[in-house]
Amino acid sequence: MKKKDVLIIGSGLAGLACSLELLEAGRGVQILEAKDHLGGRTSSWIEDGMEVESGLHRVLGIYQAFPAFLKKAGLEIDELVSWGDEVEIRLPDRGHRGVFGLSPLHRPLKTVYSFLGNNLFLNPLDKLRLSRFFRAGLKDHRRRPGYLDSLAVSEYAKKWQVGEEVLFHFLTPLSAGIFFLPPEKFSAFAFFSLLEPVFSRFMRNRVGAFVGGMTDVLADPVAQAIRRKGGRILTGLKVEKLLLDKDGRMAGISAGKKEIRAGQVVLAVDLGSAQRLVRRSFGSHSWFKPMLELPTMPAATLQLELFGPALKNDRPTFGPGTALSSFAEQSRTTFKDAWGRLSAILSPPDRFLNQAPNRIFQEFYQDAQRLDLKVVNNIKEYRAILHPEEFYSLSPGNQSLRPSQTTPIEGLVLAGDYTAQEFLTTMEGAVISGERAAAAILGKD
Ligand SMILES: Cc1cc2nc3c(=O)[nH]c(=O)nc-3n(C[C@H](O)[C@H](O)[C@H](O)COP(=O)(O)OP(=O)(O)OC[C@H]3O[C@@H](n4cnc5c(N)ncnc54)[C@H](O)[C@@H]3O)c2cc1C
Repeated sequence: MKKKDVLIIGSGLAGLACSLELLEAGRGVQILEAKDHLGGRTSSWIEDGMEVESGLHRVLGIYQAFPAFLKKAGLEIDELVSWGDEVEIRLPDRGHRGVFGLSPLHRPLKTVYSFLGNNLFLNPLDKLRLSRFFRAGLKDHRRRPGYLDSLAVSEYAKKWQVGEEVLFHFLTPLSAGIFFLPPEKFSAFAFFSLLEPVFSRFMRNRVGAFVGGMTDVLADPVAQAIRRKGGRILTGLKVEKLLLDKDGRMAGISAGKKEIRAGQVVLAVDLGSAQRLVRRSFGSHSWFKPMLELPTMPAATLQLELFGPALKNDRPTFGPGTALSSFAEQSRTTFKDAWGRLSAILSPPDRFLNQAPNRIFQEFYQDAQRLDLKVVNNIKEYRAILHPEEFYSLSPGNQSLRPSQTTPIEGLVLAGDYTAQEFLTTMEGAVISGERAAAAILGKD
C-alpha cells in the first residue's frame, strides 16, 4: 500500500460509500472483505445450489444519500429498483386486510383513501388517537430524544391512549415488520427516527424492490466503479486484529499470517464483528466502552423457490400475530427467472437462531397458510438465512451507546449502520456513516 492509502475493512454499503468518497478526493483505497462475495447485508449468493440474498430489502423513496452514492458509481436508482406504491397488512385466520397507498405523488387517491378508508382496520376514533400519538412523537423526537429513547413504542402509545387493537393492527406490523422487534421492545425514539423523514419528505414516499440479486445489481457494479477509479478489493480475507504502533497510532491489520501496514484504517464492519475486533485489539480503552455495551439483535429470514407465485402482487406485506413479520412475492422483481419466489423475515428472530431449517420451515408453513399464502403443493426448495449479531438493537436506552465515526485512536475511523447517524440500521444509514467516515479521514465536517 502507498503511504497515504486508506485500508477499509468491510465491503458493505458503509465501506463502499467511504471508498468512493475517498477515491473522489484523490486518495487510494484498499478494501478487505472476509466473505467471497461483496455487499455485506446487501448481498446475494448461491447457497447449496439456490440463489439467496441476505434478506428481503426495500428501498425507500425518502432516501437521499443512497441514490446520490449510486450516482457517484455511475448507477441510476430507477434502473436498479422497481418502484411500488403500496404496503399491505394481513391479519391471520381470514382476518381483515388493509392495503395502504404510500405514494402521494404517484398514487395520490389511493394514498389519501387508504388512510380515510380502511375503517374495518382502524375506526375513526383509532385514527384520531393515532394521529395525536404521531404528532406528539414527532415533537418529542425533536425536543426530548433522551426521554423518547427511555420508552418502548407500546409504553409511549399507551400514554396517548392508543388501544390494544391499534397496537396489534398497526404499530406491531410497523415495528416488527420493519425492524424485527415487537413494540414492547422497540425504542420510541428509534420508531420516530424512522417516521420523521416519512413525514418531512412526505411527497417522496415510495417503496422499491431491487431488480436482481443485490450483489449483482448493487455491490458488484459499485465495486467495478471503485476499481475503475484505482481502488483495490481483496475478498476472502478476514481481519483478526487491528495493529497499533508504539505511540498508540494505527499501524495496520493482521489476518492469519498476513499483515498489512496502513496508517489510516476505516473499520466498516457490522456491530458484532466490530466489537470482537475492538475487544481483541484495544478492549480496555475507555472510549470504546459504550460501543462494547451496545447490544446486538439478530434477524432471521426464510427464502423459498415456488412452482408458482404465492401472491398476486409483489408488495411488502406484514403479518402481525404470525412468525412472518414481513414478506413479499419477488418473482416479478428481484428473482424474475423464478416461477414463484417468496421471501419472509421471521419474528421474533431469537427463537429461530438455533433451530434446524426444517423446524423453521414448519413454523413458516403453518403461519403462511393462516395468512392465506399459496404454499400447499407449491414449494420447490427453501433456505434459512440467519444474522445472529449484525444489527445494533433498537431497544430503549441504546441510542447514546452508538459511537461517532471519529475515534481517539489516531488513524482509526469507524463506519457502519450502528455508528451515530439518523437513519438507524438501513441502507441509507450505512451510506451516510461511510461518507462521514471519509469526511473524518479527509479532515472535513
Ligand atoms: C434481512 C435484512 C433485511 C433488511 N431490510 C432492509 C430494508 O428493507 N431497507 C433498508 O434500508 N435496509 C435493510 N436492511 C439493513 C441494511 O442491509 C443494512 O443496514 C446495511 O446493509 C448495513 O451496511 P454496513 O456496511 O453497515 O454493514 P454490512 O453490510 O454488514 O457490511 C459489513 C461487512 O464487513 C465484513 N466483515 C465483517 N467482519 C470482517 C472482518 N473481520 N474482516 C473483513 N471483513 C469483515 C462483512 O462480511 C460485511 O461484508 C436489512 C438487512 C437485513 C439483514
